[in-house]
Amino acid sequence: MVGNAVMQASHDHTESIAEGLEHMHPELAQLRDAGGDPVYLVGGAVRDLLLGRGRADVDLVVEGDAAALAERLGAKVASHERFGTAKVDLGGHEVDIASARSESYPHPGALPVVEPSADLAADLRRRDFTINAMAIPLQGEPRLIDPHGGQADLATRQLRVLHDDSFLDDPTRAIRAARYAARYAARFGFGLERHTAELLRKADLSTVSADRRAAELLRLAGELDAVRGFALLAKWGLLELRPGGAELLERVAELQAEEPWRSLSPRDRTLFAAAVGPPRGEEALAAARPARPSQAVALAAPRDGIELVLARALGAEWLDRYLLEWRDVSLEIDGSDLIRAGLEQGPALGRGLEEARRRKLDGEIDGRDEELAVALRVARGDDGVA
Ligand code: ATP
Repeated sequence: MVGNAVMQASHDHTESIAEGLEHMHPELAQLRDAGGDPVYLVGGAVRDLLLGRGRADVDLVVEGDAAALAERLGAKVASHERFGTAKVDLGGHEVDIASARSESYPHPGALPVVEPSADLAADLRRRDFTINAMAIPLQGEPRLIDPHGGQADLATRQLRVLHDDSFLDDPTRAIRAARYAARYAARFGFGLERHTAELLRKADLSTVSADRRAAELLRLAGELDAVRGFALLAKWGLLELRPGGAELLERVAELQAEEPWRSLSPRDRTLFAAAVGPPRGEEALAAARPARPSQAVALAAPRDGIELVLARALGAEWLDRYLLEWRDVSLEIDGSDLIRAGLEQGPALGRGLEEARRRKLDGEIDGRDEELAVALRVARGDDGVA
């Protein structure tokens, strides 16, 4: 039933797979002669190799014992995460090895029951989308193993689940769908296959534990196109963004592209907080109107980077000056100057320094002598402030 054009295409593909493998993952060449149980490159690395997208994380499946393969490779086994998996260093790259396994779901959203010692076919059947359910054998001639039509779906840019219960079994796959759709949309124009789109709308993320849901959302938040991914989930009716979340996400993403905001907080956790909250102290911070620099510092200093970015995105423009000017204002004196001037160690000393910094921030004093005078006066209780 295979037409000539397709035969020709698949012949070309075999060559390009060998080339792509050699080019993208030269460290895997040593597996060719490793002998023993069959080993396959699987999942995202195969998908991205066919897309020509660049190097992806390497996941290997072995029809046998993962740890035994790791040792046979003479690789340094970094850890045994759990039974049937190993992480190894191959030519400077971290590679995940897993024993082929099948999975079943005792009830919707549950963690799967893992059945080890399965073959590759069963291992591919448990996967999320056809484009992730392909493999390349690493012994002998490289070729594409594609039992679910992943290559055709890559060609037509479609995300397609393997069976109708896929989102029911594991609704986090809906978040994964948003992640891939967002990631590949701009460059490759990916969308959901029609039937998959219907199934997806019925997915129920509430059956999944909050931790697993958050972990997958955090991975989405780590994508370059995370904003688009969250918007998709909201559009599909699967995720309720926090009030104003869509705009907040856009603004946070913009801020995080520039200094001084870029380096203030982890991008993924900040976008996650912008998307789904819960609101932290940012709303109060955004509503505040500090009249003086010292008030701004008192408000902002106890807040973490995520809250600051969110508050800025909500409109607290004064935070720019806090970060660029006020945050780093420090005194020329310190505690030892006060002790040398005759004060005892103790809380009064801190109060004196604090008041001196406040006045320096507000431009009321200038220079070492004035700082010392204020700090001593306050610490000694001569000022009416301490
Ligand atoms: P990335 O390109 O972001 O590294 P990936 O496709 O490699 O993504 P991973 O989360 O690292 O994705 O998972 C590796 C492979 O494991 C996937 O390609 C998929 O085949 C399978 N997989 C991961 N999570 C699931 C899941 N929840 N349900 C089914 N299969 C999954």
